[in-house]
Amino acid sequence: MQDALQVVGDRAAVVGAGQMGNGIAHVFATSGHAVTLIDVNAGALAKGRDTIAGNLERQVKKGVLTAAVAEAALARITTATSLDAVADASIVVEAATERTDLKFRIFEELDQFAPFGAILASNTSSISITEIAARTKRPEQVIGMHFMNPVPVMQLVEVIRGLATSDATTEQVLRLAKGLGKTPVEVNDYPGFVANRILMPMINEAIYCVMEGVGTPDAIDTVMKLGMNHPMGPLALADFIGLDTCLAILEVLHTGLGDPKYRPCPLLRKYVAAGWYGRKSGRGFYQY
Ligand code: NAD
Repeated sequence: MQDALQVVGDRAAVVGAGQMGNGIAHVFATSGHAVTLIDVNAGALAKGRDTIAGNLERQVKKGVLTAAVAEAALARITTATSLDAVADASIVVEAATERTDLKFRIFEELDQFAPFGAILASNTSSISITEIAARTKRPEQVIGMHFMNPVPVMQLVEVIRGLATSDATTEQVLRLAKGLGKTPVEVNDYPGFVANRILMPMINEAIYCVMEGVGTPDAIDTVMKLGMNHPMGPLALADFIGLDTCLAILEVLHTGLGDPKYRPCPLLRKYVAAGWYGRKSGRGFYQY
């Protein structure tokens, strides 16, 4: 059994270099871990690395990090386009696109390539950790490690135990999250866990309000910001998360819980079909 501190000091691998993957690699690197950032898309890897460099620079300007710490963090990050690059990792955090079939395939491969004893974590927003774990021969070492966006800024890591996840794995991941400067909260494996079980129905309802003409996006967001003291309105937040990701999460809630209250709003489906994914595509409920 590996010691938690050993994991904390060891190499990490992050699969997926999108907005979450680059943020996760960023916090591992600034906490002293060597990180391999992996994406099938070389363009996404280059963009991910540039984003990390830009965010580190911003943290230096704000006085959050020294220039030396930022430089050392960037030097700890290497990139790869193939999953066999996890061969020397003691923890892998998967942050690829929110698609069940894709995550299943990635975990089958990670199980082959990652060292015996390595923990395989998923940053999935909603997909069953138990089902992902069942695709591997090490379900007791598979766990959800759900970071929040933007990762370098947000405190929470939702830690999700699958049915087979061992106490030792959970302990190590709780300690690891604390070592990254985060506050972990342990929850159990049901669709959407806690964060998105509660957040997504609110976002979906806000989209219904747009569709039914109850208010403009700006009016709806202003009501929630000024009236409920939310730092961001639900539609600006949906654009920030990615409307494709919001739809994928709602589908998991709807299918997994079987309750019509989770049905994704048709307007959300229409935006995603049009390629209006929010900030990442330049257009969603707002234009960027
Ligand atoms: P994204 O679209 O920004 O990035 C996904 C990345 O995965 C892309 O760069 C893509 O090239 C890569 N990818 C696809 N298939 C791959 C494969 N086979 N191997 C390696 N890389 C692959 O998405 P994101 O917003 O970063 O979301 C990633 C994960 O994090 C999802 O599971 C999502 O639900 C979860 N998440 C998202 C947020 C959010 O606010 N966006 C918050 C918490 C968790």
